[in-house]
Amino acid sequence: MPGVTIKGLTKRYGDVAAVEGLDLQVKPGELVSLLGPSGCGKTTTLRLVAGFLKPEAGEIWVGDRCLSSPITVVPPERRRMAMIFQSYALWPHMTVAGNIAYGLRFKKELSKADREKRVKEILRIVQLELSESRYPGELSGGQQQRVAVARALVVEPEILLLDEPLSNLDANLREEMRFEIRRLHEAFGITTLYVTHDQAEAMVISDRIAVLRGGRAVQMGTAEDLFQRPRSRFVAEFIGKTNLVDGIATEPGVVTRGGVRLRVASADLTVGAPVALSIRPHMIELVADHQTGTVSARGDNLLRGTVQRASYLGDAVDCQIQVEGSDVILRVAAPPGLRFRQGETVSLAVAPSACIPLVESAV
Ligand code: ATP
Repeated sequence: MPGVTIKGLTKRYGDVAAVEGLDLQVKPGELVSLLGPSGCGKTTTLRLVAGFLKPEAGEIWVGDRCLSSPITVVPPERRRMAMIFQSYALWPHMTVAGNIAYGLRFKKELSKADREKRVKEILRIVQLELSESRYPGELSGGQQQRVAVARALVVEPEILLLDEPLSNLDANLREEMRFEIRRLHEAFGITTLYVTHDQAEAMVISDRIAVLRGGRAVQMGTAEDLFQRPRSRFVAEFIGKTNLVDGIATEPGVVTRGGVRLRVASADLTVGAPVALSIRPHMIELVADHQTGTVSARGDNLLRGTVQRASYLGDAVDCQIQVEGSDVILRVAAPPGLRFRQGETVSLAVAPSACIPLVESAV
């Protein structure tokens, strides 16, 4: 099972660089999501990998085969890849079994019996045995999705490419299908590139996630890496909710903004340098008792503030706190049992390990 290596890939449309100097490595058998906002170049990257587009610069390798470069592009049907589109692209006049068998049309070496056996086997895996004679128009969105997945898997591709395959499903089904796609990936272990703009989907499905911005991969890592160790404000804000506090390093492990002094999760800061901190709302503890000092008994940063707003959300209370002696406003996800009134004074405890200095503080 080969991996995919993308080096310096560039594709322009007139003045717009849809993909610009993209570097990316997908290990054999790994599922990597391309995640980013609309227009960041996800679909263009996938189409370049599929061979539908020719790059202006850079190369795409699968194992030891160079499939794309500015000089040569191996055509899609010779890439040993399968792609699943947002629209599923099923044939409406063919049954489920017919649609899946259609994927095998180029496999001339297979006998009729072998084809039928493969189709039956894949129908079982995607749990559609009972629907094999139905037409796409008689299936639910989730079932159509399964047919599209089955049609891609039946050809036993080396590489699987998926372009927002869940975006046409309703919210509940979408969530269920995330687990299904992950289950199928674990069963088949095919090297996969998965395009989505939905961070929760990427976090559930992927081994690793590449966050794209302006046609480049700005950070790549596991869901946990990206959530806990974002390098830039873009990644910190794109992966989950966060508070960004812009300050100055006043000591190697301390960032100050106005009257707020925070000990942080690093002791390597350059004194005098501007530093942006990311603090997740659920990492801030609200304490109703008015405490004194700037450090709690267990070593947390202690701040005081005024509740500007508290919204009950069922599983948490989303609070906005104006921090005393500064212009810092922090969002806090408090446990649902805690009730605060607007205007109430509270203490906030924030562990230094929850104050993450962004390495690329400016972006
Ligand atoms: P979305 O999530 O909205 O699908 P994306 O991240 O997949 O976005 P792309 O579709 O790859 O983004 O587009 C990247 C950039 O290239 C955008 O600015 C887009 O407008 C531009 N672009 C894409 N395809 C073309 C095209 N055929 N002609 C001109 N510009 C294009």
